[in-house]
Amino acid sequence: FNVPEPKNEPVFDYAPGTPERAKLQAALQEARSKEIDVPMYIGSEEVRTGNKVPLSPPHDHQHLLGHFHEGDKSHVEQAVNAALGAKEAWETMEWEQRAAIFLKAADLIAGPYRYKINAATMLGQSKNAFQAEIDSACEIVDFLRFNVKYMTDIYKQQPPISGDGVWNRLEQRPLEGFVFALTPFNFTAIAGNLPTAPAMMGNTVVWKPAYTQIYAANVLMQVFREAGVPDGVINLVYVDGPSAGEVIFEHPEFAGIHFTGSTAVFQTIWKTIGNNIEKYKSYPRIVGETGGKDFVIAHKSADAKQLATGLVRGAFEFQGQKCSAASRAYVPSNLWEDVKKYMQEDLSTIKMGGPEDFSNFVNAVIDEKSFDKIAKYIDNAKNDGLEVVAGGNYDKSKGYFVEPTVLLAKDPMYTTMCEEIFGPVLTIYVYQEDHFEEALELVDKTSPYGLTGAIFSHDRYAAQLATQKLRNAAGNFYINDKPTGAVVGQQPFGGARKSGTNDKAGAMINMLRWVSPRTIKETF
Ligand code: GLU
Repeated sequence: FNVPEPKNEPVFDYAPGTPERAKLQAALQEARSKEIDVPMYIGSEEVRTGNKVPLSPPHDHQHLLGHFHEGDKSHVEQAVNAALGAKEAWETMEWEQRAAIFLKAADLIAGPYRYKINAATMLGQSKNAFQAEIDSACEIVDFLRFNVKYMTDIYKQQPPISGDGVWNRLEQRPLEGFVFALTPFNFTAIAGNLPTAPAMMGNTVVWKPAYTQIYAANVLMQVFREAGVPDGVINLVYVDGPSAGEVIFEHPEFAGIHFTGSTAVFQTIWKTIGNNIEKYKSYPRIVGETGGKDFVIAHKSADAKQLATGLVRGAFEFQGQKCSAASRAYVPSNLWEDVKKYMQEDLSTIKMGGPEDFSNFVNAVIDEKSFDKIAKYIDNAKNDGLEVVAGGNYDKSKGYFVEPTVLLAKDPMYTTMCEEIFGPVLTIYVYQEDHFEEALELVDKTSPYGLTGAIFSHDRYAAQLATQKLRNAAGNFYINDKPTGAVVGQQPFGGARKSGTNDKAGAMINMLRWVSPRTIKETF
């Protein structure tokens, strides 16, 4: 079980004048200047249906990057059949071969594909260079390399005890059937991790990405093929949710789902699976990361500047479109004036625009539907008389731009303190500085979700109290840091309550969900 010890892929900073920056700019230039035609990948086929859907950058919606070919139910059926057809050869392949394929995929992304995949994420999902780098270069590479390690950790787990004339073994079988990967727009790394984690453990997969992530998903698929993932092991289809669901969740060989997306969709899927439970050969594995309404709470001992920086970065990097983004904050009254000043200063220097200009920290939100939803929350807050501490403007004429917006709520139960917005809107509630314990209770009480959260405090007792009182309010809890930016192998990521099944992404616990062990007793 000797595999290379994984190390986190170093992050390039793309500073002005560096060769990395020039290469990334060239890749962006190239991607912008040619329209691509993106097929589905089913078995050995590249499938072009002729039903072409345009791909455009969210920050420049009139520019055409190309098209993808949309499929229908019949393509999902073909993908399921391709996955089932590829299964026997894949699951009986030596694990070293599977490991080698995914280690090679990691090296291809870290090396020759790095600029291409970052450019695709920047253009297709409107991410700035740094946010793209930590996602589509580093995090996906880390997922692949660390998961290979976790795979071997599983295979070498302590075997059962054997006695005289008896040999007991535990075989880590893949699941029987196929796995469905349903992936989000916000991280290319997650889009890559959800199909590859089950595939690594010997499963075959039908992968349906968000339409708004297809531009970069296509590059991932090219990498997987070049790395040697056999035909049919990962099948990539573009169909609407209901069409996919009708085929996948009715199928007797449906063995599990690996999901990241909204709480509402996950709950609908879970109910559908429940209603179909008699149809399946096995009880399907349901693994999902869903919504969040992530909090930051500060104690009166916190450093106002550090808190303001944490809030700006935690709330507004990638336009707040991270499940982990800070979207509500509880600031003690003694710090508020300073925190407000620092945040306003910080935000006044931030530039907004397309990611092709590397000085833009804020880019566009993903699409018009999302833009309209966020704009409505901002309008309602203005109409309801909330103070707009920063931002508050939006414009969709060229791209879907929303200014980083900070609202001050007098009511800690105000909608933007409770509902997930998935955009650059942070609402702050100022509590009376000596009522820290009540503030902790308030945070817990208003956390139907349980994904991420942070405490800023220089008082160790207060930090400890928050860690204990909020133990169920966040699956990833940060002390004196922003609640985003989990690194594979360092902060395994995921939450409970309505945020998911908490089968941490990029961790052994996750990889264990993709096997169904068999015990073998042999007597001599
Ligand atoms: N893992 C990411 C982070 O820690 C968030 C993932 C997500 O948005 O789903 O920021």
